[in-house]
Amino acid sequence: MSESKNDLTIDEVPILKDVASITSRAKYQSPLSFHPDHRDRMFGGIIAPYHLHGEKIKCGIQSCRTPHWHGYLISTSDDKETNIGKDCGKNHFKADFSAEMKRHDALYERRLKLNRILDLKKDAPALLSQLISLQDHYDHLKSMRFKFRGCLSSAESNRLATKVKSADPTIYEYQARTKEERDAYLETNPAARKSGTVPPKEIPIGEIKGFTFLAATYKDEEIFNYINPLRQLIRANKNQITSWKQGQINETHVWIGKSKTLIPAMEYIIAQGVAFFTDENLGKLLAIGVSAESIEHVAMELKSPIALIRSKLKIT
Ligand SMILES: [Zn+2]
Repeated sequence: MSESKNDLTIDEVPILKDVASITSRAKYQSPLSFHPDHRDRMFGGIIAPYHLHGEKIKCGIQSCRTPHWHGYLISTSDDKETNIGKDCGKNHFKADFSAEMKRHDALYERRLKLNRILDLKKDAPALLSQLISLQDHYDHLKSMRFKFRGCLSSAESNRLATKVKSADPTIYEYQARTKEERDAYLETNPAARKSGTVPPKEIPIGEIKGFTFLAATYKDEEIFNYINPLRQLIRANKNQITSWKQGQINETHVWIGKSKTLIPAMEYIIAQGVAFFTDENLGKLLAIGVSAESIEHVAMELKSPIALIRSKLKIT
């Protein structure tokens, strides 16, 4: 769509928010007949699309009268106005209607997106500072994760990676079974009877917190790509935004929508990171085969980073 050649501008198209805003217009009449039912009344043009909520409006074409929520206010060749649905428009007025419908739908969509963008602009400075502080916290935690990994031997790293991959944060204690328990196990697991091997009892004794943070990757950092577009939005004034190219409007609109889910997701990852890096939680790594020496090393290396992130997040 070439925008410069589009003679429609947002300010010229009325906003039809409810039935009254349509039926109260000076030239509005319903129902009306059109050619060939009416000798010489033809389609004039589309004035504006509407998308109602609640009360429906009847189609203004005499032979139709179907109630609907979504349609178009149109003008007629004899200077009247009425409202019609999309199907009636296409059936009665063919290509004249369809071409106008496309332009109006595109403009309607643009206005909807622009309004959401202008709406967001009000909150943009607060959103920006939220993103910047999230990024700061996340970067801090990432550097802690880097140091942490540096304290583990490669065998310990592998054990941890396997545990994280299992997505089961539970830690277990293993106990040998009594004779009765062995018999009961073999009874319910016929496959084990041949070999006679009975695994020890697995008793949950706790949980390692923060796996989501350990598993986080660059993909989880998408939200930070919106810091610069957000700065652009803050710098631009209303007129500049209204004249943005459709591509920029679409992109901005998309990340506004995404920020609603990506921000809470990042907040969760950060909370997981903070929960992982506590002395108590790190101590649980013993249960998956990280040595006491390594854990001590980690605790020493991360003592002040842990204190710093907790004070940044005002966690006592
Ligand atoms: Zn109709």
